[in-house]
Amino acid sequence: MKKSIDFSKYLSIKIGAPILVDVIEDYSYDKSLKILGHGCNLLVSPDAHSLAVLGDRFDYIKDLGNLIEVGGACNSAKIFKFFKQNNLSGLEFLRALPGSLGGLVKMNAGMKHYEIKNILHSVCVDSEWIEAEKLGLTYRKTDINGVIFAARFKKEYGFRQEVEEMCTLMRKTHPKKPSCGSCFKNPEGDFAGRLLEAVGLRGYSYCGVGFSEAHANFLVNYDRNLAGYDSALEIIRLGEKRVYEEFGIKLEKEVIIIE
Ligand SMILES: Cc1cc2nc3c(=O)[nH]c(=O)nc-3n(C[C@H](O)[C@H](O)[C@H](O)COP(=O)(O)OP(=O)(O)OC[C@H]3O[C@@H](n4cnc5c(N)ncnc54)[C@H](O)[C@@H]3O)c2cc1C
Repeated sequence: MKKSIDFSKYLSIKIGAPILVDVIEDYSYDKSLKILGHGCNLLVSPDAHSLAVLGDRFDYIKDLGNLIEVGGACNSAKIFKFFKQNNLSGLEFLRALPGSLGGLVKMNAGMKHYEIKNILHSVCVDSEWIEAEKLGLTYRKTDINGVIFAARFKKEYGFRQEVEEMCTLMRKTHPKKPSCGSCFKNPEGDFAGRLLEAVGLRGYSYCGVGFSEAHANFLVNYDRNLAGYDSALEIIRLGEKRVYEEFGIKLEKEVIIIE
């Protein structure tokens, strides 16, 4: 099955064009397809092709007794609600973090030291269940190459209200404009936002896209009539160039670019 997705509405940064994408309904999918989640960490070229999303049958949560299984298409708000309602610990940070289970696992998403990997038990990649320790989960990175159809989490009781509150508070200081979250990963011992601010790019924009004045490492859409994929790439390159020239630090992109 295929469906048209208007990426100017689908992506959290609200930049893009309508593209016909495949909907993956079972484990035997075309391996040349590029899988997307809910588009909260993406920039997608208007010329991109061979894209896919997971079908609705992968939007589920199952209690397996000592583990919780979540389908790849399930969104973070639903996962958060399930964990909170069942007094489960470990995913409180999802209160303030958008995305699908597939994207959250692939990115090892998290806030501060609260990360997916902390309570991940195993992941179903291309129909094979693999233990979390074998998937190379580190800061916003994993070695997963195939499609994440589901993941299982350790079932530990004791929802931590204070973690939810801390993450909600952190989110309040983040930009309100459409964004794709952090543009760059924090380099070891430093902060990408601090470096971008130090080179004068906090609040700087070009053709409707720029680094937020609220948080310099957030790439935001300042003007939906002007902002485009090319201007977003320009801004990212400018950030990389300025920080390298000033500090000799090569920033690594956190945002995923689908060409
Ligand atoms: C306002 C805002 C705040 C944010 N704050 C944070 C934060 O504090 N911490 C943080 O870590 N992130 C943050 N993000 C980024 C984003 O929430 C996470 O990266 C999230 O995990 C993205 O999930 P997604 O489903 O949208 O994935 P997408 O953005 O659609 O995709 C991200 C990557 O995951 C891959 N992927 C998606 N689904 C699958 C699948 N089923 N199988 C295999 N690979 C897949 C894609 O190919 C791509 O490489 C923020 C984003 C926004 C908009």
